[in-house]
Amino acid sequence: MNGFVIAKIRGIEIRVNWSVVVIGALVAWSLAENILPEAIEGYRTGEYWTAGVLATIAFFAALVGHEMGHSLVAIKAGVNVEGITLWLFGGVAELDRSPDSPRDALRIAAAGPAVSAVIGVVALLVSIPTAGLIGSTLAWFGFINLLLAAFNLLPAIPMDGGRIYQARLWSKNGNEHEATRKASQLGHRIGGAMVMLGVLEVLLGGTIGGFWLVMVGWFVREAARAELQHAEVDQPLRSIAVSQVMSPDPVRVGAETMITEFILGSLHRGRHASYPVTRGGIVTGLITIRQIQDVEPDARSDTTVGQLAIPLDDVVIVEPDSPVSDLLNELGRRQDRRALVFDQGELVGIVSPSDITRLITVVGLLGHESDQANHPAPTKEIPPCSTK
Ligand SMILES: [Zn+2]
Repeated sequence: MNGFVIAKIRGIEIRVNWSVVVIGALVAWSLAENILPEAIEGYRTGEYWTAGVLATIAFFAALVGHEMGHSLVAIKAGVNVEGITLWLFGGVAELDRSPDSPRDALRIAAAGPAVSAVIGVVALLVSIPTAGLIGSTLAWFGFINLLLAAFNLLPAIPMDGGRIYQARLWSKNGNEHEATRKASQLGHRIGGAMVMLGVLEVLLGGTIGGFWLVMVGWFVREAARAELQHAEVDQPLRSIAVSQVMSPDPVRVGAETMITEFILGSLHRGRHASYPVTRGGIVTGLITIRQIQDVEPDARSDTTVGQLAIPLDDVVIVEPDSPVSDLLNELGRRQDRRALVFDQGELVGIVSPSDITRLITVVGLLGHESDQANHPAPTKEIPPCSTK
């Protein structure tokens, strides 16, 4: 999701999507022009607007607090957080993988609504003895946070309640895939029900709330569907090791090699699109055809492969025994979709986009065949791929 970075808290980037500006303006406007004047009379327009704008900022800060709740518990459970993005439908904490145990999954999911509920209760308690416009604004802020906590507890993936439901199923049956499947299906149905309720409200002459419910329901429905699809592809890929899809013993190229020499040599004679780069026998990076295309023909004779290579720190490194599903999750966040495979410090293979495309196609075919024959897909028997 696109967004501009507004802060970095404990190493986690907080990004804001443009849609938040629109939503923020709407919230501030409805607070200043309707909600606050109706709650308490006798203030000037400027005062209502000041309270409305401050409450809107506090609302988004509380949303960040909610996502920080998920994030900090995730980090404690060993799951990295890529960042937090605020967008049209609230906040998203981007975790780099799913948690290892149902216990962790449940804690991560519950932490967000817990933060919102605590903020809500504290704000309401403070609002009771607070008089005037400040008291009314605090009351709204408390109420909206409690509403946020409650709404997020709906058992519909991708919402927190759906993740809690998934974690409980997982813990009960010990089958993560089956739990994700069931929870996503429920999310899909609840999303559909929200859309219908929203349409009904619009038809009965409802206001903006009906449209909003249709949009949120639609989003939940689509996200649940995407989660289900991801789980269906992810499951067979968990039983396949990286060593089964990598191209073993990739041809290496010395860092001192001139680009012209490299084009006439390895690139011309070989059939690969990327090559590990070595210096003194040690792998230091990766060079791809794409990078060479970017070099002006005149400059090719005085540029070395080493100058152009992607440094090893920026290349995805994976072990041969890791499941392909983990690698795909990692690659999904990168622009360059290739990885080097190291076994105890030794380069043993390379995984290219074509290896992955082929694997996903084969898994799809196997899944289809096994549906027809009604027996489990023999996913372990996929031969390693060496063609590019
Ligand atoms: Zn949440």
